Amino acid sequence: MSTEHEHDADCREVLERVYFFIDNELDHASRAQIEEHLTACAPCVQEVDLERMVKALIARSCREHAPVELRQRVMFSIRQVQIEVRRESPFD
Ligand SMILES: [Zn+2]
Repeated sequence: MSTEHEHDADCREVLERVYFFIDNELDHASRAQIEEHLTACAPCVQEVDLERMVKALIARSCREHAPVELRQRVMFSIRQVQIEVRRESPFD
C-alpha cells in the first residue's frame, strides 16, 4: 500500500517535468531519475510518448507558434486512441 503511494508521487514528479524532459532541459540527475522511473512505469512511458508525439505533430504542422487550439485538438484525438488502447490493456 505504501509503495503504491510512493509510486504515485514519482509519477506526479515525472509528469510535472515531462516537457522539460522532452526538451532536454533537465540537469543530469533529474533526467536520470526520470529515465529510471520510465523503465518501471508503463503509464508514464505512454505519457512521455504522447507528449513527444504531440510535440512532433505540432512542429511539423506549424513551424512557428503552435496555436493552443491545434495542440488541444491533437491531444484530444491522441487521447481517444489511448483510451481505446487502455480498454484492451491487461493492466487494468
Ligand atoms: Zn510513473
